[in-house]
Amino acid sequence: MDLRQDFLIIGSGIAGLRAAAELAPVGRVLILTKAEPREGNTGYAQGGIAAAVGPGDSPALHAADTIAAGAGLCDEQAVTVLVEDGPRYVHELIEWGAVFDRDPEGNLALALEAAHGARRVLHAADATGREISRTLWARVAGLSSVTAHDHARAVDLIVEGGRCVGARFLREDGTLGSARADVVLLATGGAGQVYSDTTNPLVATGDGVAMAYRAGARVADLEFFQFHPTALDVPGQPRFLLSEALRGEGARLLNSYGEAFMTRYDPAGDLAPRDRVARAIVRESARTAGKVTLSLEHLDHDFVRTRFPRIAAACQLAGLDLARDRIPVGPAAHYMMGGVQTDLDGRTTVAGLFAAGEVACTGVHGANRLASNSLLEGLVFGARAGLAMAQSRQASGSGEPEEARSPNASTPWSLPTDTSIQSLMWRHVGFFRDRQGLETALAELEPASRALEGRLQTGEPLNASQWRTASLLTTARLIARAALRREESRGGHYRSDFPKRDDILWKRRESEGLHTGGSFSARNGSI
Ligand SMILES: Cc1cc2nc3c(=O)[nH]c(=O)nc-3n(C[C@H](O)[C@H](O)[C@H](O)COP(=O)(O)OP(=O)(O)OC[C@H]3O[C@@H](n4cnc5c(N)ncnc54)[C@H](O)[C@@H]3O)c2cc1C
Repeated sequence: MDLRQDFLIIGSGIAGLRAAAELAPVGRVLILTKAEPREGNTGYAQGGIAAAVGPGDSPALHAADTIAAGAGLCDEQAVTVLVEDGPRYVHELIEWGAVFDRDPEGNLALALEAAHGARRVLHAADATGREISRTLWARVAGLSSVTAHDHARAVDLIVEGGRCVGARFLREDGTLGSARADVVLLATGGAGQVYSDTTNPLVATGDGVAMAYRAGARVADLEFFQFHPTALDVPGQPRFLLSEALRGEGARLLNSYGEAFMTRYDPAGDLAPRDRVARAIVRESARTAGKVTLSLEHLDHDFVRTRFPRIAAACQLAGLDLARDRIPVGPAAHYMMGGVQTDLDGRTTVAGLFAAGEVACTGVHGANRLASNSLLEGLVFGARAGLAMAQSRQASGSGEPEEARSPNASTPWSLPTDTSIQSLMWRHVGFFRDRQGLETALAELEPASRALEGRLQTGEPLNASQWRTASLLTTARLIARAALRREESRGGHYRSDFPKRDDILWKRRESEGLHTGGSFSARNGSI
C-alpha cells in the first residue's frame, strides 16, 4: 500500500530529525530511514559541534575561520546564516536535553580544533553525535504527527509535472513501496562508501546525490571531498576515526623514526588544515618507508582515557593502548563538501524537493570544511529547511500525475562490483589526482553509468544490492567528472598535474545537472 503524509523526510541523522521537529507541529511527517534508526554519520561524530558560544568568541570570528578553511569558495551568505543561527540552535538542543561536557564551574567545556581561532567546539566526551542523535530522537519520537519507518531504503524520487511528490522505497523483504507527500526533504547524509578507505558507515553511499541527480536536480562542488588525515591504519581493522580533538588536546604526529614532522610541511604543524595534514602524512610515510603514528604518550594517561573513552575502546579492540602506544594512522575518505545544490532554505532546483545536511551543498564549506561545522550545518539548515517546507506546502498545488512506466523487455547488462568502484576511486580520484588517473577512472565509470541509466529507463526493478551499487556508481562518476574539470588544487581537491591554486580561472563553484546535457555552469553565491 502507498503511504501518504504531508511531509516526507528521507534520512534520520541530525538534519532529518531537526527538520522533523520543525514540521511536526504543522503537519504529518513520515521519516524513511534505510537501516537502524540511529545508523548514519551523525551517530559516529566524535569531536563535537562548533558554535560561537564561548567568552571572547563571536559569530564573526567563527565566520572568518570557516571562510579561511573554505579556500576562497565559501558562499559567504550561507556562512553568515550558519554562524549567526548556530548558537541559538545549539542552546535549543541543550534545552531539549543534550548533555555536553562542562568544566568544574559548570561552564560548557569548549575544545579547540584545527583551524579554529577560538575554543568553540561543544562535545559529549568523544561521542557527541550519539548524544545529539539521542536528544533529537527523544524529541521527535513522542510526537504523534511523526511516523518513522526503518529499513526502508528510498531508491528513486517521484517527480510529476516537474514537482517532486514523493519517493519509491525498498522494504527489508525486497518489496517496493511508495511514499507521497506535498514536500520532500533529502537528508541522506554522505558518500564516504564510494571509496575503499573511509570513516563512514555502510549507509553512506551517496543515495541522495544519485536520486536527486536522476530527478533533474543540480549537484555542485563534488570534486571537494575531505580525507581525514588520522583514521586508524591497522590491517584487518575498520578505519576508525581518531578525531582531530586528540591533536587539539596535544597529540602529536610522528614519523616512523619517532620524529615530529608536521612543521616541515606546514607552519601550523599538527593542527594544520586536514587536507595538508593528509598529504603530509602520505609523503612522510613514503619518505621514511614506514607508517606515521599518533602519540599521546606525553599526556596524562587518565585524562586521555576519560576524555576519549570511545576512541580508547576502538584502539583496544585493535590491541593498542591509546594513552601509551603509538597509534598507526593514515588518511581515509571522510566528508563530502559538495552535494545537491540548495539555496539558504534547503530548496533544490526541483520544485517540492529540499535537501539538508551532508547531502546538500549550501556552500558553507567551500572547498574544505572546518572541523565540527557539519553537525552545525545539519542542525541549522535542517531547521531552516523545515520552516521553508512548511511554507512551501501551503503554496504548492498538486503535480500532474506522470504516466506509469511499464517494464520493457529485459536487456542484458552488468554492473561493476562495489569493491571495484571503491578501489578505482581510491586509486584515481583520491587525495592525489591527475588527468591520466581521472580519465582512467571515467573510462570505467561512464559506460557503466550509461548502462545503468538504460536499465533504469526500462522500468525493470533492481534489488537492494543493485540499488546500492547504482548509488555508488552515479555518485562516483559525478565526483570524478567534477575532479577532471577543475584544473587546479584547492581545499579538498588536489591535482598533482595542477598543484597550485588558480584564483584567476577557478575561483568559482560549479554545478551539474542532467537536463543540461551534463554540462556545467559557473555560479557565484547562492542559486
Ligand atoms: C566518524 C565520523 C566522525 C565525525 N565527527 C564529526 C564531528 O566531530 N563534528 C562534526 O561536525 N561532524 C563530524 N562528522 C561529520 C558529521 O557526522 C556528518 O556530516 C553529519 O552527521 C551528517 O548528518 P546528516 O543528517 O546529513 O546525515 P547522517 O547522519 O549520515 O544521516 C543520514 C541518514 O540517511 C539515511 N539514508 C541514507 N540513504 C538513505 C536512503 N536511500 N533511504 C532512506 N534513508 C537513507 C541513513 O540511514 C541516515 O539515517 C563525522 C563523521 C564521521 C563519519
